[in-house]
Amino acid sequence: IPVDPFDLVIFGGTGDLARRKILPGLFRRYCSGQMPENARIIGAARSDMEAHDYAALAAEAIQEFGGGKACEDGTLEKFLTCLDYVTIDARGDRGWSELQARVAGKDRIEAFYFSVAPSLFGDLAERLQSHGMADSKARIVVEKPFGRDLASAQALNATLAKYFDEKQIYRIDHYLGKETVQNLMAVRFGNMLFEPLWNSQFVDHIQITVAETVGVGGRGEYYDKSGAMRDMVQNHLMQLLCLIAMEPPARFSPDAVRDEKLKVIRALDPVEPHHIVRGQYDADPDDPDAMPDYRTAVDNPRSKTESFLALKTHIANWRWAGTPFYLRTGKRLCARSSEISIVFKDTPHSIFGEEAGRHRNVLSIRLQPNEGITLGVTIKEPGPGGMRLIDVPLDMSFADALGPDGAEHVDAYERLIMDVIRGNQTLFMRGDEVEAAWAWTDPIIEGWTKRGDVPKPYDSHGAGPDTSTQLMRRDDREWREIT
Ligand code: NAD
Repeated sequence: IPVDPFDLVIFGGTGDLARRKILPGLFRRYCSGQMPENARIIGAARSDMEAHDYAALAAEAIQEFGGGKACEDGTLEKFLTCLDYVTIDARGDRGWSELQARVAGKDRIEAFYFSVAPSLFGDLAERLQSHGMADSKARIVVEKPFGRDLASAQALNATLAKYFDEKQIYRIDHYLGKETVQNLMAVRFGNMLFEPLWNSQFVDHIQITVAETVGVGGRGEYYDKSGAMRDMVQNHLMQLLCLIAMEPPARFSPDAVRDEKLKVIRALDPVEPHHIVRGQYDADPDDPDAMPDYRTAVDNPRSKTESFLALKTHIANWRWAGTPFYLRTGKRLCARSSEISIVFKDTPHSIFGEEAGRHRNVLSIRLQPNEGITLGVTIKEPGPGGMRLIDVPLDMSFADALGPDGAEHVDAYERLIMDVIRGNQTLFMRGDEVEAAWAWTDPIIEGWTKRGDVPKPYDSHGAGPDTSTQLMRRDDREWREIT
């Protein structure tokens, strides 16, 4: 179903994110017929260029980062006619009147994507207002990171609130745009099967892993000021935790969902220092030049920033009292894998005797790669060997279940941009959620900073520091293998 006609201004339209995700994503929506032919995409960035240069930049980005098949039949050329460009200075006067002349006063949806450094968000908001573009039709899309602690997030929220109503602000967390994340809600709230078991009486623990194989790459300077807690846990992992742990909202509407997520964040217990493991990756012994250790990669020999973080926390409410949540994320690990696992308790009594073997049911929700949901079920080992129990997966891989054509690949960014145009904020973070998340992470970061904790080195292409394994073993549990 096509969305209504819109003007989308991409501030930072020549940058890495615009080239890798936003422009190819919009092109795919155009190919699918969801983006109307009279929609306009206006790149706005510092570089001096004309509209035709921008179209060339977009064509190159689309060819490199996605959408290959439709490029041959002239669709790309048609899409490029929707593009325009304005050279603009977020901090000065240049370009603003020109942009205003292109978008203001038109009877269509106006969306402004802030794909620039966060230090420019306030400048953009202020200039949109002073040039008459912050009217009630306008929507702004704000990229991460949203602050680096509670105080800076509050200040940023206050700045944006001077010019825009909360209903106009779309804070992106692209994890929420993933197909499986929405399926997680469908599985939880569309089936009778799981919800009665979804509590501390039946769930032993929950683990969330987001593992990357890449190191810090060219983002060393930014990453070293941030670390895994700020870059991944405060936003992506906490959002996943909220969706798993929240109470069923009354309806699938933006504020109903976000109210429930907020309650989860506010119920999170502080984290004990001995429930935190921080690490920094070592060099790859086979190729130390291409894959140096973390401190060399960020060019800071004394860095105490973590490229790996594992922690255990609890949610202080009736549903989850006593059920630990283990979160783990890191760079340069053995596989690229994001998975949420709900590990159920043992059956209270085994009628088959301990020698038959025992397996816990695990519901595992895989975000990448191979999005899908698997439920581990115990059955009898086939054959004449007597009653021996084995664990087999009931597998719902989306590609298998829906077929290659049934499961249209929609990247998180393109889905979220279409939600912005439709005015649906369900999959975007509200200001109070972001602040509550920082209010939980700030004391943890302050704690390790005050203690002077130094992250433990860990092997490249492994599963993180040994202390991460011990964090689980102390509780008689194991991390799921990263595959
Ligand atoms: P980038 O450095 O590649 O691009 C920055 C863009 O901002 C360029 O188009 C540049 O012309 C423009 N710009 C810089 N100063 C300007 C000014 N004074 N006035 C107008 N335009 C100006 O950055 P990026 O990697 O595309 O990241 C953009 C935003 O998205 C950042 O907030 C970043 O944290 C966030 N983000 C990026 C990624 C990613 O994969 N690149 C992922 C998640 C979030």
